[in-house]
Amino acid sequence: MEKSLNDLEQYRVQRCHDIEENYKQILENIARAEQTRGVPEGATKFMAVTKTVEPYFINHALSLGIDLIGENRVQELMGKKPELNLEGVDVHLIGHLQTNKVKQIVGEVSTIQSVDSVKVAKEISKCSEAKGITTDVLVEINIGDEESKSGLEKNLLLETCHEIAELPGVKVEGLMAIPPICDSSTEVREFFATMYKLFIDISSKKIDNINMHILSMGMSSDYADAILEGANLVRVGSSLFGARIY
Ligand SMILES: *Cc1c(COP(=O)(O)O)cnc(C)c1O
Repeated sequence: MEKSLNDLEQYRVQRCHDIEENYKQILENIARAEQTRGVPEGATKFMAVTKTVEPYFINHALSLGIDLIGENRVQELMGKKPELNLEGVDVHLIGHLQTNKVKQIVGEVSTIQSVDSVKVAKEISKCSEAKGITTDVLVEINIGDEESKSGLEKNLLLETCHEIAELPGVKVEGLMAIPPICDSSTEVREFFATMYKLFIDISSKKIDNINMHILSMGMSSDYADAILEGANLVRVGSSLFGARIY
């Protein structure tokens, strides 16, 4: 019994140490990419993706100064939230959101990054109005036109933005994407570059009630590539916390 407690303690100490080292490395990589891109250091918002990670380790990451976390599942987020030290920390939902879960999540996160239809936006707006708040959203684009993935078809972006702009309870703050799995950095950068172009195009339209200023793209394997192509919010899970085992 005593031994296994020690093992647990040792595991925690080691994992916390790893998280610190990983975070330092990631910040260096981000700074280098920002420099190459020619944007100011610190221009990229860092999100720690906390899916499957126990609150103990999330809290350790937060103690390092991380102030934005992302979760995929409404249920998992609601379960962990009471155990998290969220003072001064922003929480976003980044996973696909079913209409029937909207009611539970509205008011629990500042931003829903995974809005991919007018239908879900309408529901978010309705629930937000009922709570007397507005919810920030990003429009998720299915940039690789993959059947298996959620996200809006890029051709529908403009008309979808116009429709969402009419909704009183939501505010579009930007775009989000998860590109297809690619064999090379060159290949993934093309998807990121296409996203950046969409982002610039739609920003220039100056749609009322839309403040297009966040471009959320890049994960553990490609956040530097994303920054090189214009991302200003990166979502990093396994490179920070270690590989997800389930
Ligand atoms: C899991 C997830 C991430 C982070 O993935 P890693 O490869 O572990 O960094 C980022 N964005 C979304 C939407 C995710 O679901």
